[in-house]
This record gives sequence, structure tokens and C-alpha cells, in this order.
Amino acid sequence: MELNIGIDVGGSHIDICKVNINNYKLEILDSFDITYYYKPIDLINKIIDNLFKLDLAGYEKINIGIALPGIVNTKKNYCIKCPNLKYFKEIDFNKIFFKKINKIFKGNIDLYVLNDANAGTIGIYKKFFNKFNLYNKDIVYLVIGTGIGSGAIINNKIVLGADYSAFELGHTKVYYPKTNYKNNLTKCGCGSFNCIETFASAKSLTDLFNNKYHKNYKGLKEIIQNEKYSKYKILFNDFAFYLALLINNIILTVNPYYIFIGGKIVLSLNYFKEKLFYFLKQNVKMIKINKEYFNKRIVFLKPFNNINEYNILGSAFAKDFI
Ligand SMILES: [Zn+2]
Repeated sequence: MELNIGIDVGGSHIDICKVNINNYKLEILDSFDITYYYKPIDLINKIIDNLFKLDLAGYEKINIGIALPGIVNTKKNYCIKCPNLKYFKEIDFNKIFFKKINKIFKGNIDLYVLNDANAGTIGIYKKFFNKFNLYNKDIVYLVIGTGIGSGAIINNKIVLGADYSAFELGHTKVYYPKTNYKNNLTKCGCGSFNCIETFASAKSLTDLFNNKYHKNYKGLKEIIQNEKYSKYKILFNDFAFYLALLINNIILTVNPYYIFIGGKIVLSLNYFKEKLFYFLKQNVKMIKINKEYFNKRIVFLKPFNNINEYNILGSAFAKDFI
């Protein structure tokens, strides 16, 4: 028998789940908050503690997938950098993991460490495989919250790239003024300027509103609760415009069968859906964007209240897509 474990590491929270790979049911083994100073070795110890709680004697094989919020060399299980976790930098997970696990389990163990948006893409592919008949179909996933995460499955494999930066669509650019540039640039968390996530993420919309009206809101939800629609309508129009440009670029690079859009921004879908359709129709000229395309090929996914099922499922199934 095989034991499958999926782990979703966020910037402030970790979920460790046992995954039934036949019916995709998740059993939460551990769920806890972390800080910027959480260490990779603490995560390894947590995983081992949780494995101890299970009866390992019944298993011949353990498959563990870890989704991390950063840049990962998945082929080597090597974490290059997670911007929101200080110590998740240049970490060889094979080294620190197998040193510990080999002491408690003698059977076969597979470990897969991957970027969380890539894990989410795999999770969505598995979850919706039957519903959307995804066999041999390319998909792109965008998760829009604080930033924009993204991933793609092409020819039945997750796209990793030579430097592990493939499908970092949030850091592609759609506008970069050549002249008078200092006044027209917006700095991005990656260190560059004018990345699309500085215009089209929940955080960027909040920042834009706060700057314009000299406010101090923590998020979009607060703005919607406290301000008049007429005041924040323009934010969502701008958001729809930039998202339409991004989708145009996705269609013209990969032309996927489906573009899945998830994350907290989907809670505000009513504020930007019509405009997004309008801008897509205006901007995408190589193919016809009609209502049918829009409603069938661009799929909005409601965000989760608790654990991110797609990231967990995807990390447990990573072995089939690498
Ligand atoms: Zn960037």
C-alpha cells in the first residue's frame, strides 16, 4: 500500500494532508500558522511527527509532495527562494529530508517539492479531468490574490522552464514607458518594475485606491464594505483591462483549451466579469471571443475558506507531471 501526503506551505500557514489518490479525499493531519522566520527544518520535523502518528508498518511506499510559495528546482527538490519566508532560500530538501526520514522508515519514499501555483495547476487538472475532458488538453491556471501566481500543463506535463521561471505570468509586462519613465513605473515585489501584478492583483488594486484617496485599507473587501461603488468601480475596470491583456498574451502563446482563474479576486467577479468580456472582445483579434468562448473556456474557480485543495492534491500528484 502507498501513503500519499500533500503539503501546502503558504506565506503564513501550512496544511499537511493525507490524500486518497483514488477519490481525491483529503484528511487534514496538521494545520498551523507560521511566521516569516519559520525554518525548513521545522517543516521536516513536523512532517516526521505526523508520519509517526500514522501506522507506517502497513505501507510499502510513501509519496510526499510539498508546495512552496517561491522558486523551486523541482527536478532536484531544491528551493531557490521564497520571498515571504526568510530561511526558505537555497535549501536542498533531499538532503535535510532523507537524513531524518531514513531513520524511521525503511520502505520506498518519493519526495516532490514544487512551486505552489504549479501544484495548483496539477490539482485543477486532476480535479476537473473528467468534468472538462482534459485528456491531452493544455491548460493554464492563474491564481490572483496578493500577487498573480500561474502555471501551465502542456503535453500532459507541468511547464518548468530551464531556470524554473516559466509561466511566471504575473511578472510579464504589458506596459513600459520608454520616456519620462521614473514617474510612470510601479515597483514589483520581484525587484523589477511594471510587472502585470502591480496593476492586476488584489493588493495592487488596494494600493491604487489607498494612494488615490489617501486611505489605509488593508484589502479589497474593506474598500467594498466602506466605500461607494462609484468610487471603486474604476479599479475593477482597470483590473479587467489588464487581465484581458494578460489573457490575450496567454491565448497567443499557448492557446490553451482552458484558462482557469482562481484566488481571492474571484470573490469580486461581479465587479469585473462584464468588463473583462468587453476588453477581451476588443483586444483578442486572432480568434473570435464570443460569449460561448468566454463562458466555456475561461473558468472562474471560487476560492477556498480553509485549505487549498488544489495545491494539496497537486503536490500529491506531482509525480505524474514532472
Ligand atoms: Zn515582478
